[in-house]
Amino acid sequence: MDGNTYRFLIFISVFALMLILESFIARHPTVDSKPRRLGMHLGLSGLNTLLIKFIFIGGAAVGAAEVAESKGWGLFNMLDWPYELEFLLVVIILDFAIYLQHMVVHKVPLFWRFHVVHHSDLDLDVSSGLRFHPIEILASMLYKIVIIYILGPIPIAVLVFETILNGMALFSHSNIALPARLDFLCRKLIVTPDMHRIHHSIEVSETNSNYGFNLSIWDRVLGTYKEEAIKAQPEIVIGIDAFRHPNELTFYNLLIMPKKYGKLTYVT
Ligand SMILES: [Zn+2]
Ligand SMILES: [Zn+2]
Repeated sequence: MDGNTYRFLIFISVFALMLILESFIARHPTVDSKPRRLGMHLGLSGLNTLLIKFIFIGGAAVGAAEVAESKGWGLFNMLDWPYELEFLLVVIILDFAIYLQHMVVHKVPLFWRFHVVHHSDLDLDVSSGLRFHPIEILASMLYKIVIIYILGPIPIAVLVFETILNGMALFSHSNIALPARLDFLCRKLIVTPDMHRIHHSIEVSETNSNYGFNLSIWDRVLGTYKEEAIKAQPEIVIGIDAFRHPNELTFYNLLIMPKKYGKLTYVT
């Protein structure tokens, strides 16, 4: 099996596990239809995967690392650091880059138009981790490729990072109740579902916090961390003010949302 097959199998396994856990230990009541959202989000994810494959023919992020390696481009291809150290640094640096990107898409109105698709979800569960507008996915990949050309990372480290990012996106969006002590301990290092649910709160100050994807340390160090929402976790109102009705959140409307609601600014 090649790396992409492993990545896909891990993705499917985490998705299935979270889906099962959600039916036993749900943390938050739902307002929209779960099957409808699941179908829509899987459709978006399929479309995004096809677009990435079609547009980044050379193999997207991992492909860029392979090109950088073969041409000797980037910082790590010029340094002779221990493999393990480079591997660890690549995974950490890419995570920080994604944290910064997430903060920026909240602050720049043009980017927020696209990211709003993710935040328009009225519920939060494992499938929300797939709810991204195609333009945001493509722009994010372009951004990652630029960073990879600058970094010159080991390709396998990029593959591992991408796999962790996919898995963590499913975990952190899942509607599961972790024991409070376990959530507290995990949050010291990684983003948990309770931590990310605060980011999906309708309260603007809460939306503009907890930007982390994998590691929780960036929010803690850079002052964007929120331990708790104003409301208790099960009472957090999920989504944003502009979209409160499931009927207007169809697959087609998600695709045209950046244009339709283009005038919307959401910067604090
Ligand atoms: Zn966000
Ligand atoms: Zn999210």
